[in-house]
Amino acid sequence: MNLYLNGKLALITAASKGIGFATADMLMEEGTKVVILSSNKNNIEAAAYKLKEKHNRDVFSIVCDLNSLESIFLSYEKVKKEFGEIDILVNNCGGPVPGNFESLSDEDWDKAYIQVLRSAVKLAELVLPNMKIKKWGRIINITSLSVKQPVDNLMLSNTFRTGLIGFAKSLSNEVGKYNITVNNVAPGYTLTSRLIELAEIRANEKGITTEDEIKTMGESVPLKRVGGAYEIASLITFLASEHSGYITGSTIAVDGGAIKSTF
Ligand code: NAD
Repeated sequence: MNLYLNGKLALITAASKGIGFATADMLMEEGTKVVILSSNKNNIEAAAYKLKEKHNRDVFSIVCDLNSLESIFLSYEKVKKEFGEIDILVNNCGGPVPGNFESLSDEDWDKAYIQVLRSAVKLAELVLPNMKIKKWGRIINITSLSVKQPVDNLMLSNTFRTGLIGFAKSLSNEVGKYNITVNNVAPGYTLTSRLIELAEIRANEKGITTEDEIKTMGESVPLKRVGGAYEIASLITFLASEHSGYITGSTIAVDGGAIKSTF
């Protein structure tokens, strides 16, 4: 199937590893030009090198801290100047710190607001003027199954990711007339460093190994396993493509059936 992604320019945030990296890899497979961004210079350069070697094409990397609106603005100015205007924005971020209501500080709340919600709003604001002129654009936010079913001990994720899908739905209503779609992907348990970090915390609490905790997570899901980053990236790539042109304002789970509700 031709996804008609050849020649488009995508910006994927938080892409040095995990879901962001897999997305960059899959989009490059489809001929998309990609700019990848992350806060860690060594990691993002290593990721860019890996992608370049694999696809034998240039990939552009930018160091940007998604916890800082100034860093986002300056990085985006650089992207625009050096690589051009963005057709596809994949808003990803590092996971906010785990914790329940009693354990979180004011600083945790303020940081998670910028990291999860405000950064995605700012990036949408930066890419939209050109998408409107071109009358084509894709904005895809990576959220979590926590937007449909809150996860214990992930108070910040449960709160701000739900805010993000509210924003995305409202924005999709406003920009549909420009042929711009805005959608959210909600991963379930996905084997990346984020999952290993969460599994470690739970394993320590239970006095079991991290491997056993990951196995337990997998067994709790109807498909009886945790997912892989490329299984999330497949949906993101489809949503970025021409074939998803009539899907907007949607939140689609890739969770092995973990969410218990019918919608
Ligand atoms: P990951 O840990 O593999 O990758 C996180 C990426 O975020 C890295 O590239 C890292 O450099 C980048 N990053 C972290 N802080 C940053 C910052 N301040 N500025 C810029 N970049 C930053 O994580 P992942 O599993 O790929 O998760 C991606 C997103 O999906 C996260 O928000 C995570 O919470 C969410 N999610 C993951 C799972 C899962 O099971 N893995 C499930 C649901 C939701």
